[in-house]
Amino acid sequence: MTKNTNNPYYNLFQKQKSNQYKVANSTYNQRINKLNTLKRAIEITFRDDIKEALYNDLGKPDVESEMTEIYQIVGDIKYVKSNLHKWMRNKKVPTPLSMLGASSYIKYEAKGVCLIISPWNFPFNLTFGPLVSAIAAGNTAIIKPSEMTPHSSALMKKIVQSVFSEDEVALVEGEVQSSTDLLKLPFNHIFFTGSPVVGKIVMKAAAEHLASITLELGGKSPTIVDSTANLKTAAKKIMWGKFMNCGQICVSPDYALVDETVKDAFIKECKTWLKEYYGENPETSDSYGRIVTSKHFNRLKAHLDDAKSKHATINSGANSNEDVKYIAPTIVSDLGNDASLLEDEIFGPILPIVTYKTINEAIEYINTKERPLALYIYSKSKKNTKQLLNNTKAGGTCINNNIIHYANHNLPFGGVNNSGIGKSHGYYGFKAFSNERAVVKQHTFGITELLFPPYTGIKEKLARLTVKWF
Ligand code: NAD
Repeated sequence: MTKNTNNPYYNLFQKQKSNQYKVANSTYNQRINKLNTLKRAIEITFRDDIKEALYNDLGKPDVESEMTEIYQIVGDIKYVKSNLHKWMRNKKVPTPLSMLGASSYIKYEAKGVCLIISPWNFPFNLTFGPLVSAIAAGNTAIIKPSEMTPHSSALMKKIVQSVFSEDEVALVEGEVQSSTDLLKLPFNHIFFTGSPVVGKIVMKAAAEHLASITLELGGKSPTIVDSTANLKTAAKKIMWGKFMNCGQICVSPDYALVDETVKDAFIKECKTWLKEYYGENPETSDSYGRIVTSKHFNRLKAHLDDAKSKHATINSGANSNEDVKYIAPTIVSDLGNDASLLEDEIFGPILPIVTYKTINEAIEYINTKERPLALYIYSKSKKNTKQLLNNTKAGGTCINNNIIHYANHNLPFGGVNNSGIGKSHGYYGFKAFSNERAVVKQHTFGITELLFPPYTGIKEKLARLTVKWF
């Protein structure tokens, strides 16, 4: 620990460390009171400020801010409130006959001092969501939000300060260096949401202290549209899921993998829905957002330039306005395998369309890439759906829809390998921030004592009987 005394966050960390048992031993009512105060701050006191900050940072339409940020956090808190009593209780488990005279249970105890590092695309939801789970499980937490969305980060700091004392929850603003400094401290759990590249940095830092981790990462989430799909509803949902928040969503459909026989009809439907959602000129639409920073704008622009230089077909969009970080909802097809759009996670409003001849070919294509956070299937064929589900891996899947699995509190949310480690939301979030402590209580003389040394006479016989019968 001595080497950390110069760390700018050392004192804050120590304060939380000293307070951790008080917080861990808080009752159900005390935790609910805290969550209620946070809920009031988000739902009432700061509601308009939240929408304003999101508009300033991301040009987020108010309806999207209500639905994808405020509603998600408030919904999370409501769900935790109606279940926490059950989750906090010790869970009795059976005890084998060979341990006669003892009983066993699992005690859900707080992990301790936690670090939450969050991204910029849903700054409130992806910061307060994990915080709700951390509080429910009785932890203290230091939060580091993204520097890319400064209005949101400054407001979240204000909200945190209005609800918590800093020895329980504190928010630290700052650039990457702040995360780097925080990651040197011996946190008990680190909950990181962001890119796989930074996820690896976080995992290495956690290894120094053997801190447990939850990594909520991203990647290329495929959307399969087979020849049996209802193309009209598939396009309707994909155009909504892809272009909400300007495609800056971890579970957004990254690319569409479409049966070649329905490609043209599918693209036609997509264009119809784009016009329906955003009008003739999406730049003037109140329902369409903006790219977060110039750096991200230029990254996406480079993808488009690469596609154009390789003679891909631009089916829709591709125009942009750097001054306001606008990129039109774009659909691109006929890309070669060397197109940059097919390599990295796009995280922006560009949908590449890749065609396949057979479901096996689609599966092979998916499996040449890292395991995705989400995989979506549009099909009326049970056989195709089953084949896709059984021969690919993904953090989550929607069949004939996209994104909505994120909003079901009863489901675990998270990735697999490159798209994440560990799960969050509802009970799974509570578990991520809890240590499941195994407790055995001896009530009477334990039968195991019959087998203590010295191992003489009847003991060998007893050991054999135990192996055979218990
Ligand atoms: P990012 O990884 O660049 O940054 C995330 C956080 O890490 C930020 O707070 C940032 O300050 C910090 N950070 C950046 N570089 C760091 C470093 N070198 N060391 C330590 N900390 C560092 O991600 P982003 O651009 O904010 O978000 C986009 C990515 O996040 C996408 O890959 C997306 O798929 C993913 N994402 C995943 C989820 C999920 O729930 N699985 C949700 C949203 C976004």
